[in-house]
Amino acid sequence: MSATPHQYSIRLQNPGAHLFEVRLLVARPDPAGQVFSIPAWIPGSYRIRDYARHVVSIRAEADDLEIELTKVDKSTWQAAACESPITLIAEIHANEQSVRGAHLDTTHAFFNGACVFPAVVGQEDHACELDIRRPASAPGSDWRVVTSMRAQNAGKYGFGTYASENYAELIDHPVEIGNLAIGEFEVAGIPHTIAIRGRTRVDMGRVCRDLNTLCEQHMRLMGKPEDLDRYVFLLMALGKGYGGLEHRWSASLVCARDDLPRKGDVGVDKQYRKFLGLCSHEYFHLWNVKRMKPEVFTPYDLSKESYTGLLWVFEGVTSYYDDLALVRCDLISTESYLEILAKTITKVMRTRGRFKQSIEESSFDAWTKFYHQDANSSNATVSYYTKGSLIALALDLMLRLESSGKCSLDTVMRECWTQFGETGSGMPERGLESVACRLSSTDMSDFFTRYVRGIHELPLEQLLGKFGVRLCLRPAEGLRDKGGKPAKQGRKLHPWLGTTLVNRNGRPVFSVVHSGSPAEQAGIATADEAVAIDGLKVTASNFDSRLKGYHAGDTAEVTVFRGDELLKFTVRLEPPPADTCYLELIAKSDKGTEQRRTAWLSGG
Ligand SMILES: [Zn+2]
Repeated sequence: MSATPHQYSIRLQNPGAHLFEVRLLVARPDPAGQVFSIPAWIPGSYRIRDYARHVVSIRAEADDLEIELTKVDKSTWQAAACESPITLIAEIHANEQSVRGAHLDTTHAFFNGACVFPAVVGQEDHACELDIRRPASAPGSDWRVVTSMRAQNAGKYGFGTYASENYAELIDHPVEIGNLAIGEFEVAGIPHTIAIRGRTRVDMGRVCRDLNTLCEQHMRLMGKPEDLDRYVFLLMALGKGYGGLEHRWSASLVCARDDLPRKGDVGVDKQYRKFLGLCSHEYFHLWNVKRMKPEVFTPYDLSKESYTGLLWVFEGVTSYYDDLALVRCDLISTESYLEILAKTITKVMRTRGRFKQSIEESSFDAWTKFYHQDANSSNATVSYYTKGSLIALALDLMLRLESSGKCSLDTVMRECWTQFGETGSGMPERGLESVACRLSSTDMSDFFTRYVRGIHELPLEQLLGKFGVRLCLRPAEGLRDKGGKPAKQGRKLHPWLGTTLVNRNGRPVFSVVHSGSPAEQAGIATADEAVAIDGLKVTASNFDSRLKGYHAGDTAEVTVFRGDELLKFTVRLEPPPADTCYLELIAKSDKGTEQRRTAWLSGG
């Protein structure tokens, strides 16, 4: 006999005060005193967030009488010993507008279950029912509900009861409630929905068509997961914003509303390309990290940090395929893809921390380093997203070369999916490596030792050359130069100070001082407020042009405020490093090279 489901309900109690009321009825509590807990982190975002801090009040009842509820630690409560069903009643503050949070106001409601639903400790495997209560009056009485959670007693996009197989599933279905723009399409016969919150003039038909093309591309590569019978994109379109969080049957996204195409727009501009890349990234995650996970995440322990050296596989490989999928299904051109790739290479080239931290260490330390960035991060750490995606690229190209096209990262990922994903066993720490070695019949251990566990520079120039792509490096043309394109003709290069100057609260502040740079040698520190160079006022917008008056080897006097003290430094300027990448198609490549490139960029 299956256990009685836990009955959760959520009410938009006071939108003006950002308060949800959550109730949880446990039919058969632990007679010794039922323990309840709220997750400390949310899968996909590797940082301790302690969601229990948003609990404003919490109490328990049994037989219509209040029973004692003792707080045990920051995230845990224990009810008094009790044989009768217990109802837990919590008031939860929700004012975090992010894909990882919960947010309620008079315009909408959004929540991740991890932020609002206590777990019944020891009974996490019980089925869960969730009643999403319709407000009796505005605001909210005419809103629609969109979630990938299975409706049990609710109309399409309606308030009512939803069901999950267990607690882990309950908190893996974010819910958006509001006046939503909704689009629908099918991928391999599976219904897909996109729900957009925020004022937009989006061309929904176009978004659905393009997402359909994109999702089909991923489905062709990885194959349909057996339990994928619906999928939902929940999108917040804000004035500014970018990000996403993956789930098994859905993704939460935030973008700038200007990233979305409007009626009459044609072509894929940079902003829309960014949006499509974000959707592509989160959709690929439905295989890579939601169904196929690091072994240590099966199951997740949401009470504390969970360490793995594999985040680069789950984020880096996903970051590699997100943009690659766009060119493979012709949403963007080869030139456009190479521009994005060159920008990623530029980002990594400007991260001196790549010589300090391996990508395996970057993954392992995500909790305390990647998710706790400070001014020294780019000198001491490297991103498992960007560097991880370049390792994926190098691995893909190397496998294709070594096996004469028989093996690639595509075949390795499909095999990993079969072995670690479909089985639900999870990927061991060296799982990808062993599959790559076996499928290519090549000893790849040197590759993993050098580039994954080591800090060697990736041989991208040689590898890309074998695929008819020339990797070119040049100095940056200014603070806003992110790479991806050749230098502009005739633009005068300015010498290098080795800092980034940003506008912070109306003041020009050095946000990064690169290790070994002239600025560091002179003593300029991050958080110093720039005042002047050789007596002339400096701002974030005139910094580039101020430096253009100088040559490498010149000295300049830089004045800054450190706190409220004025300091002067003499800086000897250096030639700018060639850390800005662009990629060119090699016009006259031999047939073999062209075939390799076509196979890579078309997924053959
Ligand atoms: Zn991701």
